[in-house]
Parts: sequence; structure tokens; C-alpha cells
Amino acid sequence: MANRKDDETIIYNFREDQDEEPSKEKKSEVTVEKNAADDENKEELTGKASDDHGDASATSRAGKGENEDYEDVCFICRRPESKAGRMFKLPNHICVCDDCMHKTMDTVSQFDYQGMLNNPNLQDPTQGFQGAGFPKISFVNLADLQGDGGIPNKQKLKKKKSKENAAPAIDIKNIPAPHKIKASLDEYVVGQEHAKKVISVAVYNHYKRVATNTMDEIEIEKSNMLMIGPTGCGKTYLVRTLAKLLDVPLAIADATSLTEAGYIGDDIESVVSKLLAAADNDVEKAERGIIFIDEIDKIAKKKETRSRDVSGESVQQGMLKLLEGAEVEVPVGANSKNAMVPLATVNTRNILFICGGAFPDLDGIIKERLTKTASIGFGADLKDKYDNDKNILSKVTVEDLRNFGMIPEFLGRLPVVYSLESLSKEMLVKILKEPKNAILKQYQKLLELDEVKLQFTDGALEAIAEKAMKRDTGARALRSIIEEFMLDIMYEIPKDDNIGKVTITREYIEGTGGPMIEIRGGQNNQ
Ligand code: ADP
Repeated sequence: MANRKDDETIIYNFREDQDEEPSKEKKSEVTVEKNAADDENKEELTGKASDDHGDASATSRAGKGENEDYEDVCFICRRPESKAGRMFKLPNHICVCDDCMHKTMDTVSQFDYQGMLNNPNLQDPTQGFQGAGFPKISFVNLADLQGDGGIPNKQKLKKKKSKENAAPAIDIKNIPAPHKIKASLDEYVVGQEHAKKVISVAVYNHYKRVATNTMDEIEIEKSNMLMIGPTGCGKTYLVRTLAKLLDVPLAIADATSLTEAGYIGDDIESVVSKLLAAADNDVEKAERGIIFIDEIDKIAKKKETRSRDVSGESVQQGMLKLLEGAEVEVPVGANSKNAMVPLATVNTRNILFICGGAFPDLDGIIKERLTKTASIGFGADLKDKYDNDKNILSKVTVEDLRNFGMIPEFLGRLPVVYSLESLSKEMLVKILKEPKNAILKQYQKLLELDEVKLQFTDGALEAIAEKAMKRDTGARALRSIIEEFMLDIMYEIPKDDNIGKVTITREYIEGTGGPMIEIRGGQNNQ
């Protein structure tokens, strides 16, 4: 205490013995001590502190083999253990690195609580105080006493494997050729031949690039994609199926919720955080995943706006570095950096970005461009010609998208642009019955469990497709239409054990008749 004026260095020490205090809480005590500015001594003491601590945590970790893949993250500076060194473990699974602990203690001890620092009574060494500022402060590291079991892996980061030993995540020989990728997609996705072909080639090239990792003078560029198609035509479904087939993590984000960092809404980088969650917080796995950003047309540049466009053009600007490949720090287990959660560094260089949107009114822009060239004399004629063209979106060019409000830098980073067809009646009928997990197959399976056979006549399927076409929400309408009339069937059939087969007819769908019901082949029928 007497040395207070000359010395401003504070040392936190795990002391085995203390002058005034009998040895009750010996080992786990941290004492704030004022001492002559003796750097050597400081180093020695702090070193001892972390060693003591390290021993304790090492022992407690030994029995926890499953947690060895995860490392602790400093609660204050968010650096992982591999960067910040060993951690102090506080109660409630809070880990603090050596540096932050020192800084905190410095700040705390300089805080003149109720004039303690200047109180002459308190400065009397006979009062039993060990230095200026606070009376003796001690921390009992409960986590050490409890062992570190029970910390959920969700709050930790998976350690990156060292580069030398890690085999390539995707073996180039195992990447299926484009035609095989397309054949697998065919099993699930009806029609959209062009889109499936483009996506298969792009994905093949992308993962070939990731697997070989040859970045010599010929650098293969990333094949990020922009998918244009009306709502319900299978954009999300296509990407989902693809991710499932490739067995890579997938994050689906909605561009409408994104805003420039710092504004209300999700940060642009939150999409990477979603991907990390989809990859079970495994950074390596996330770094070769797919991010699908839906409703991308909603972040088009706003026309005639005076306020700052925080959810439009700024979001496009903000996405540029993500699309190209950058190291981003993302919060683990939350989508806001403000929350007290650890951060992980994810490199987006090998993440495949697929953007999708319906781009309403884009057809008008395309038509305008197509008719502009011959606007004199034959203009009126040509306008009619494109009015009935259902798949006008397939004629889209980058220029049209620019006119729509997408900025050139953004479009430049999405080199693969393609459109999906709007679904015709025939395609809707096929969607009902053909894919591996078709809706009809799902209902047939449900009724099969009651030993009842379910059949649809061709007329019934067409009637459902016609109804769906009227709703204009693509294949999404199919499910709701089927749900409507299957409700009665699912309710009535289990009542009667005698029913062996139900046939849904066009009349039933149109409300002019009922389903055909056949009784089981005689034996139960008495
Ligand atoms: P959007 O294009 O709006 O993203 P979705 O991909 O969400 O539409 O499609 C909605 C649903 O319609 C999907 O879950 C899927 O079951 C079905 N669907 C749409 N298009 C197809 C298709 N071409 N083949 C099979 N199912 C499809």
C-alpha cells in the first residue's frame, strides 16, 4: 500500500500463500496485488497463473474426448483459444483470455468506488488491504472445480484441421459428371431441362475447381448463378435437391430481410452464419457449401428515392465481396454480431452462391428491348408477337437486368444466368405423379398403411392442374388443392374397414360427384 504512488502496475496472481489470509481458498484464488513495477516478476507470476489454470483445464478435458474437436472462444475479444492462448474459465461456461482478463482487472482496479482510493482509513496497511483500490478481490474459478463438461458444442467452434494432413474434401474422381448430376435431378424435378443442364455443368465446374484447388496463372472463376423464374416453378426445390444430392450444407436466405450492416434487419453476412449453422459449426464444411438467396429481385435499386436505400442497392454493394470470396467473421449460433456470441472466420471463396427471383415486370423490359429495334413501321406487329410468348424470360440479357435495377458489379459476379419455364398443365400433372416423392405417392403411401388403395383418374389429375393454373402460384397451388379434397377422404376412410379402394374422379374435384369407392374383395364384407 505504501508503494502506491510509485507504482501503477497491477499483478494478478494465483497465490498459494497469502500474508493475511489463512489458506482456505488457496489454489483457485486470483489476488489483485499492487507491487513495484517489476516486469519480470509480472511475467513469471502471470505465467504461473495460466499454467495452473491450464493444468486444471487439461485434466478436466482429458475425459471429454468428444469435445476435443472444439475450442473455447474468449467471451470478450472473441478470439479462439488457438489464437489467444489458454483461457480462464468462469462460471456459466464463460471463457476469457489472458489479455482480456488483465485489461478487465486493470480497469476495475482504477475505478475509484466510493472514493476508496483516496480514503485515508482504507489506505492503512494495518486495515488488511493489499494495495490501493479495491480490497482484496478473489475469483474462484468454478468451471475448474466443476470440470468443463456440459458446455454445449453449439457455443464452441470446431477446430480447423491442419492443412497437411487433411485429405481434399471432395475428391475430383468422385464428382459426378454433369450428365449424371442431371440424371439425378431428373428423378425429382420435372421439366426445366435447360435449367437442369446449366446447373449441372456449373456445379460440376465449381466443385472441380474446389477439389483441384489449382490457382496457377489460369484461375478458374467461380460459377455463381442467377436463376430467374416465376414463383412456384421450382427454383428453391432445384437448389434443395442439388444440395441433398451433393451432400453439402445449404443455407436459404431471403433477400427481403437483408439490410446494410447497422440497420434494422439481417446483416448480409448473416447468410454465411446460417450456412455455418447448417454445417454444424464446422467451418471447413461450410466453406464448400451452397448459399441460396431467394427474392433477389427485391434488392433492385429503388427508383426515385430520396432516402438512403439501405435494403436495395446497398445490399447489392455489400454482397459483392461475399460473392467474390472474402474472409468474413460471422457470429456462431446467432445472426447478429452484437449478441455475446463467439465469432468464426469463414472464407467464402469456395461457397457457391445461387440467387433466385421472380423478377416481375422483367418481361416488359425484355419486350421493350426486342421491339425497340424495329419500332418504326413494324413495331406494333412485333409487340403482339412477344405478348403471347410465355417463356420470354429465357431471352433475358444482362442489360435487361441492369435496367431492372441490378448493379453491374453485382451481375458481373453472377456469371451464370438462366431462366426457368413457367409450368404448363402437362408439367403440373407430371409433378403430381412422377417425381420420387410426388404428392400423390405420399397420399397413396398414407392410405396404404390403412390397406386402402388410392387411385386418380387422368381426368382428375387434369382437373387439379387446371385449378392450380388459375391460382397462378405454380406448383405450390397443387398441394393446397389436394389437401382440400383429401381431407374428407382421410377422415371417412378409416371409419370403415370394408373399403379397399378409392378412385378420385374429375367430377369429385369439380364438385359435381363423389369418389368411386370399392369394397374389399368379399371376405370382410359380411
Ligand atoms: P419457387 O420457384 O417459388 O422457389 P419452389 O421451389 O418453392 O418455388 O416450389 C414449390 C414446390 O413446388 C416445391 O416444393 C416442389 O414440391 C414443387 N415443384 C415446383 N416445381 C417443380 C418441378 N419442376 N418438379 C417437381 N416439383 C416441383
